[in-house]
Amino acid sequence: MYPKKRKKAVKRRNKPIKVKPIGRSKKSKKFTPLTKEEYARALRDPRWQKKRLRIFQRDGWRCRRCGDTKNTLVVHHLKYTTKYPWNEPDKNLITWCERCHKKEHRLY
Ligand SMILES: [Zn+2]
Ligand SMILES: [Zn+2]
Repeated sequence: MYPKKRKKAVKRRNKPIKVKPIGRSKKSKKFTPLTKEEYARALRDPRWQKKRLRIFQRDGWRCRRCGDTKNTLVVHHLKYTTKYPWNEPDKNLITWCERCHKKEHRLY
């Protein structure tokens, strides 16, 4: 025979349950961001290539940060509001040179 373990009476405390208010103030993202792989593929997409060219042309083929024209130019996203970069409104995109871009971050 083994000793029966006595069940300890668990005291239940009535803690007030805090309910977190459901925030509505911030707009939730309406799209699922692309994975790294999908994004890399998207950057090779002709729709993005066309979009990039348009941004470069709009910005006069110069870095909007330092004015450089000799460095490799990249289109930087100020904001991501769409899943695919080619759907991004032009105002959310800006031409930067590679150097400025690297200073800012290491993504696209
Ligand atoms: Zn620059
Ligand atoms: Zn960027």
